[in-house]
Amino acid sequence: MTETVSKDMIASVHYTGTLPDSGEVFDSSMEREPLTFLVGHGQMIPGFEEEMMGATVGEKREFTLTPEKAYGPRDDEAMMEIPRNQFAQLEESAKLEVGTQLVAQMPHGPAPFTIIKLDEENVTADFNHALSGKSLTFNVEVIELRSASPEEISHGHAHGPEGHQEQPVAEKKCDDDTCC
Ligand code: ZN
Repeated sequence: MTETVSKDMIASVHYTGTLPDSGEVFDSSMEREPLTFLVGHGQMIPGFEEEMMGATVGEKREFTLTPEKAYGPRDDEAMMEIPRNQFAQLEESAKLEVGTQLVAQMPHGPAPFTIIKLDEENVTADFNHALSGKSLTFNVEVIELRSASPEEISHGHAHGPEGHQEQPVAEKKCDDDTCC
């Protein structure tokens, strides 16, 4: 039976993501190893998986996702003015400017943001994902497909292609830095 992109498969793909309006490439795996992910477990933005379902090895697909199927709409509430003096320590070593991306340590975990405004008093931080509110075009080629191991399914992600399967079970712990 021909293997296809479907739930509980491990898919390796090469992709190039462009902004349909400008043609600007925002991300590409072409200079790297293919992107490997467990299908159907929320590892990818939703539209990406939907559009790739049923594809076979060697198949190429091109599609454009609406923001809702990609990184979501922009949320104008997800902005915050932070007193600039809270950045005093950071400013000793780094220059703050509009467009700088930083990570805030929030009670629920790290929250990346982009500086969108800057004055003497305040830093305006935008916590929206840089690609939120944008339609995204992807060109994708399926490089490899295999069934996920029960362990990968229980972890909810793919394990590395470099012989991780061949390693003894004891070394396959998810808590191990080398695994995930
Ligand atoms: Zn794991």
